[in-house]
Amino acid sequence: MNKKVLSSSYIGIESFLVDVEVDISNGLPIFSIIGLGDTAISESKDRIRTALKNSNFKLEPKKIIVNLSPAGIKKEGAHFDLPIAVGIMTTMGFIKDRYNILENYLFLGELSLTGEIKRVNGALNSVIFAKENGYKGVVLPFENYQEASLIRGVDIIPVKNLQEVGEFISKNIIHTIQEKIIPNIPEEEIDFSDVKGQAMAKRALEIAAAGKHNLILIGSPGSGKSMLCKRITTILPPLTEKETIESTKIYSIAGELSEKRPIINTPPFRAPHHTSTPISIIGGGKKFTPGEISLASNGVLFLDELGEFPRSVLESLRQPLEEQVLSISRAQYRVNFKTNFIFLAATNPCECGYAFEPSGRCTCTQTEINKYMKKISGPIMDRIDLHVEMRRLSEEELMSYKPSESSREIRERVIKARTIQKLRFGNEEFCNGNMTQKQLKKYCQLSEENKEYFKKVIQTLEISARGFDKILKVARTIADLAESKNIEKEHLMEALSFRKK
Ligand SMILES: [Zn+2]
Repeated sequence: MNKKVLSSSYIGIESFLVDVEVDISNGLPIFSIIGLGDTAISESKDRIRTALKNSNFKLEPKKIIVNLSPAGIKKEGAHFDLPIAVGIMTTMGFIKDRYNILENYLFLGELSLTGEIKRVNGALNSVIFAKENGYKGVVLPFENYQEASLIRGVDIIPVKNLQEVGEFISKNIIHTIQEKIIPNIPEEEIDFSDVKGQAMAKRALEIAAAGKHNLILIGSPGSGKSMLCKRITTILPPLTEKETIESTKIYSIAGELSEKRPIINTPPFRAPHHTSTPISIIGGGKKFTPGEISLASNGVLFLDELGEFPRSVLESLRQPLEEQVLSISRAQYRVNFKTNFIFLAATNPCECGYAFEPSGRCTCTQTEINKYMKKISGPIMDRIDLHVEMRRLSEEELMSYKPSESSREIRERVIKARTIQKLRFGNEEFCNGNMTQKQLKKYCQLSEENKEYFKKVIQTLEISARGFDKILKVARTIADLAESKNIEKEHLMEALSFRKK
């Protein structure tokens, strides 16, 4: 007697079909699984056997062979528990497949010893795969229901335990269907109005948010660099439906979804520490796990104390910053990730941190300061659109009470500027910061007078060609924030003020 149950797995973010074939015959009572790639096999066997027993499906002493194909590709993880258990339940006749469920649905889920079905990584991937390949639906853990429901036009059958799976297959009963809930992520209780002074840095963050520009804050310890960067999420628009699916997919594979955050519909903010391993930032590992760079996609990647990050991490940022792509090649896989994030960085200006303070507090020599900045300037500085220098506030500035704008007010301008860009590019996710050379020529035309003026400034300040393009892109966003069709001189001047050579 044998049965075939369908499941899927993935490499990187690409899914593929996995056939789970179960063959049961008389003979020496053994239970063997062929085709699972790692030590998960023996653990999986024990879980499945115990879960079936505790769900009142008593295994007869027979020879059980399970084969997972395709054979050549490594398959890991516990999410084959459910399809294997389903194969055994149907082959042994515990349940009857009266509705052709087995040929139309994919199954995935990890079993607990009591027969409960637990959350798995990459569920959204399987659902997308099922839809694209014409399957009717996916039977998956209840805990993965929210992320799976992002995809319409395919049946999602959430199950809590093996009993429910049995009743779905034999009686077509769906137990735990519920209204789709798009969770409201509680607004963080931080706001731009909390931050005193630092008008230039705030303005730079607004421009970064509006046009998806990269930004670096260079300033003394205690000037509020990371406090400001964290607040960028409060002025960014929510994710589009497409972005929500993309980001949730990556979080799902990385195992970063939770009951509290079952889908990602607000911009992610990722701030890895410089002591994090390069793999955890870049991504990789035996089977490929997305790193911080991929998790930040559609949101923000913030590297505090940029100069302290290992060279390999800084180097690996080049491609995502320039092409919005991250490629990783290993013997076992090749992964191409679309990475569309706003890059924020902060750094001290020198070893001691106080080079910008007027008090003479800095103890570094000019050579030391140059050396310190050089660490980051090579690979990164030139790829950043907005440079801002920050000083600590003086006593008077700290004491003075000047009400500053709330995040909500800034966000309204950001959203308006995004709408203008959406009309310009015909694409909701594409912003000025992503413009190609061709688009730059088309959308950043200057008047003859401004062209002349700008040429002179560029020569005097010895700004590179790449720097020139960045200034134009930033000026385009500044003009959009001002709802101005043309890039005017004042927009250019402001863009220039965010450029350290
Ligand atoms: Zn110093």
